[in-house]
Order: sequence, then structure tokens, then C-alpha cells
Amino acid sequence: MRNVYLDNDADLSILNGKTISVIGFGNQGSAQAQNLRDSGLEVIIGNIDDEYALRAKQMGFKVYSIREATEKGDIIMMLIPDEVQPDVYEHSIKDGLRPGKTLVFASGYNIHFGYIKPPNYVDVVMLAPRMIGSAVRSLYLKGSGAPALIAINRDFTGTALQTLLAIAKGIGSTRAGVIESTFEEETIIDLFSEQALAYGQLIKLAFEVLTEAGFDPVVVALELYASGEIVEISKAIVNHGLVNQLSLHSLTSQYGQLSRANIIFNEEIKKKMKNILEDIVSGNFAKEWYQEGRANYPTLNKLLEQAKKHPIVEYENMIHKKFKIYLL
Ligand code: NDP
Repeated sequence: MRNVYLDNDADLSILNGKTISVIGFGNQGSAQAQNLRDSGLEVIIGNIDDEYALRAKQMGFKVYSIREATEKGDIIMMLIPDEVQPDVYEHSIKDGLRPGKTLVFASGYNIHFGYIKPPNYVDVVMLAPRMIGSAVRSLYLKGSGAPALIAINRDFTGTALQTLLAIAKGIGSTRAGVIESTFEEETIIDLFSEQALAYGQLIKLAFEVLTEAGFDPVVVALELYASGEIVEISKAIVNHGLVNQLSLHSLTSQYGQLSRANIIFNEEIKKKMKNILEDIVSGNFAKEWYQEGRANYPTLNKLLEQAKKHPIVEYENMIHKKFKIYLL
């Protein structure tokens, strides 16, 4: 197994006197910036002067333009969406990089696909939490952390690993464990899991099958996911393992799951998954997504509009009005 690093492997003090510039104050940016600050580190924010910047200021951060924050920072954390990073890097970051600075990515995407090519005098590392931003923050507050993948693309200073581990400790990730990976591996696996394991799409299909057969949509939605049981099952999978958690289900459920599994999840699905993987590995998906971002997301907006028209949304609203289901 590859190296896994925990809190004892990381030394926060090597970041003493250094300024960490968090570029972007969205999902990951706001969570990571707060965690780093609560870990005692010096954090500033680089953002366009808009509502994200205002939110950061209200939380007591010093906010600068992206260019200024890059110039002031020793460690630059790229926490803006992947598809906008190349343009922002070109116009506002590149010229502020100086020898010995560290450029940190939360995804291997732009380095792996070659959309960003940093100069050879900076350290280029990746700290990619395997968790949405809000959970990066909430886990930290509970004394835990989000597991993460780490990688070093360039070690100009010779101390890239120590810096990377210290930042990982700062956001709380070494409390859970960070594992060595590569920019390529993170990029491919992350895109694949988003595209091939789209749980929401599977739930919508099941909803259509049951409601078209005449079953009550609210009861169906509750059974499929809206009761929150899905969260408990997910927790059981994480805590006990995919196979071991089966014992928490009734024998009827175990028999049903295992005996019917390959009617849906068979070689045909696997072949489709392989096609998805090829599309990612070839860079076709990345090219398409880059163009989509530059054109201001016309296809994504259309797809989102279509998704909102699915009948499940109306029944979800009813459930939210009638029931008091809040997951803590
Ligand atoms: P968000 O979509 O939450 O980023 C929003 C931030 O980016 C805001 O500060 C926003 O500021 C800024 N931003 C958006 N567009 C632009 C632009 N054109 N120019 C300058 N700033 C812009 O991003 P995420 O936090 O989701 O993702 C950040 C990184 O983290 C990505 O590399 C992603 O792959 C990675 N990651 C994300 C995870 C997640 O769960 N979200 C999980 C693990 C990694 P404003 O609108 O004010 O310009």
C-alpha cells in the first residue's frame, strides 16, 4: 500500500511566517480558508470584488484581488472551478509567482490535461479532499477531517512534501489520513466516479419505473431516498464495508440484492462505464467542458432546466413541506 500520512507525520510550524493565499471563497475555498485559520495559520483571500468577497470580509478575512493575493502569498491555493482556472491563471496568477512559492491544486485536472503550465521555479502540489466543502468544514469542527489525495508535480524547493503535509494538517485532512497519489490518477478517478456513479440518475429511473406502475410518488420517493435511510446505508458501507454491511439488512433484502444484481449491473453496463473512462482519459471530456465554460455554460444550463422539470422535484417539495426530516 502507498504511504498514508497522519497528523504525527506533519509539522504545522514550517508554515510559521508564511502567508497562505486562498484563491476563491466558494465550496472548498471558504471551508479550507476557515480550517487553515483555525489551525493558527496566516490566511488571506483572493477573489473578485463581489458577494463571495463580501462573505469572506464578513468572516474577518483580508480580501484582495486575485493578482494581489498571489503576490502577497507564499502558498497559493487554487480553489476556483477547474474550467475557469486556466484563464484566471494566465491573467491574474502567473505573473505573481516567484521562485520558491507553492502552487496548490485541489484537483489534478488542469495540470494533468496541460491547461496550466506553471514556471519551473515553483513547487506544484495537489491536496484533493475526498469530500464536499461544507463537510471539509463540519468534520474539522467536530475534531475530525476529510481524507485527501496528495501529489507532488514539481519539487523545486526540495521541501514540497513537508509543505504539502503541513497544509493538509491545516485543513484537518491528516486527522483522517492522506494518501500519495498523482495528478493524473486523481483527475481520471474523480471524473469517472462523478460520471459513472451518478446515484441521482439511478434514483430517478427507479422513481419513474415505480410511479409509471401506479405507485404513489411521495411513498416511492420516501422509500428510495427521501426518508434519509440512504444516508444510514452509506454510513454503514463506509464504516463496515460494501459486503459486511449486508448483515444489517434483512435476509429478504440480502437475497433480493444478490440474486438480482446482475440483471441490471452486468457486462453491458461495464462496457458503458469503460466508454465513459475512455472519453475522460482521451481528454475529450475536458476539451468539451473547457469550451462549455468559455461559452458561459449553455448546455449545462439547458440540462439543469430539464432536470428541474422532472416530476420528482414537485414531490420532493411536498415532502419537505409535510415532513420534518432534517439530517444532522
Ligand atoms: P466553487 O464553484 O465553489 O468556486 C467558487 C469560487 O470561485 C468563488 O470564490 C468564485 O468567485 C470563484 N470564481 C468562479 N468563477 C470565477 C472566475 N471566472 N474568475 C475568478 N473567480 C471565479 O469551486 P469548488 O470549491 O467546488 O472547487 C474548487 C476546486 O476544488 C476545484 O479544483 C475542484 O475540482 C476542487 N474540489 C472540489 C470539491 C467539491 O466538492 N466542490 C471536492 C474536491 C476538490 P466569484 O464568483 O466571486 O468570481
